[in-house]
Amino acid sequence: MTDAADIPIRVRPEIAALPPYKQGRQAGDEAFKLSSNENPFDPLPGVVEAIRAATSVNRYPDASATRLRTRLAERYGVALDDVHVGAGSVSILAQLVQATCAPGDEVVYAWRSFEAYPWLAVVAGATAVHVPLTEDSRHDLPAMSAAITDRTRVVIVCSPNNPTGPVVTQEEFDAFALTVPDDVLIVLDEAYAEFVTDPAAVDGTRVLSAARHPNVVVLRTFSKAFGLAGLRVGYAIGHPRILDAARSTTIPLSVTAQAEEAALASLDAEEELLERVRAIAERRDRVVAGLRDAGWRVPDAQGNFVWLPAHDETLAVAQAFDDGGLIVRPFAGDGIRITIGEEESTEKVLAVAAAAVRDLPTGHRGIGGGR
Ligand SMILES: *Cc1c(COP(=O)(O)O)cnc(C)c1O
Repeated sequence: MTDAADIPIRVRPEIAALPPYKQGRQAGDEAFKLSSNENPFDPLPGVVEAIRAATSVNRYPDASATRLRTRLAERYGVALDDVHVGAGSVSILAQLVQATCAPGDEVVYAWRSFEAYPWLAVVAGATAVHVPLTEDSRHDLPAMSAAITDRTRVVIVCSPNNPTGPVVTQEEFDAFALTVPDDVLIVLDEAYAEFVTDPAAVDGTRVLSAARHPNVVVLRTFSKAFGLAGLRVGYAIGHPRILDAARSTTIPLSVTAQAEEAALASLDAEEELLERVRAIAERRDRVVAGLRDAGWRVPDAQGNFVWLPAHDETLAVAQAFDDGGLIVRPFAGDGIRITIGEEESTEKVLAVAAAAVRDLPTGHRGIGGGR
């Protein structure tokens, strides 16, 4: 084929400038894949059977996933129209940005945070406004509030923050929300909510039930704790006027019947879910303690992943993990995100991380501090 650059199709320059999406590398047989925050457990009981039973693939699915929405509305004590289901919560976030932002409008979020945020803003023609994290890798909410202008349409708060790990507290969130103008949408991205063990953390469902902030939409997903990443299903809870706007931008019928059935079956397996989530959170806390003992300045970890602030040594340290049969997610110049995976992977993670500390130059910013 002709080199892409030789074709005269006029692609929007900001789209042409986007780097192609890079997925966490697929693991070979021997390696542990700890690069995409996936759940290491098999699907919850009943899920595979539910998918197998959904055989009418000659038919389109229910466009509004009514059964799943009904179930979620009951679970959270909200109205049916306060729930919106999408093919992954990222697709709902894209809908919300598209529904609110015209070219030149601004999307404010913390940085470093979820890799999809800058891309979503660019695709919508909006302007991304990055607000640096604090020294301890947390959201700087006062700075985010100060970054809001007349052009701001959306502010995204990611708690726990992917990839660094800390949560925003309920107190911080409530104070922040009061400073955000009523006509600016606050998206609270809680993709890892189920793994949170810090009682001070913000809880989107509490924010919504207090009904103090009708401009808040909470995003959750079946991809992480529920282990359905491969089926693409997530949901939003919020004011129906906001969700109706998102629904208007939806590519119809993108949530498959299999995804809906699997999500329903997963909700039936609450007890097993909680057991797994507890196991992963406990593993996470052990890994964090081990990494800190080894000298790493690891920020609080409340998701199913931990953050190694390797800074300028990031690629070298990531290579050491790779050599040790562990596929991790490096963010060059910044740090490494390591998913909490199979129990057998944790000892290996700690061994590689401890060896890597010894190879760091003395006084490296990623070590010491005695957190
Ligand atoms: C994984 C993740 C999501 C959810 O992605 P899905 O599209 O639901 O698979 C959303 N936000 C953040 C911050 C994530 O890490």
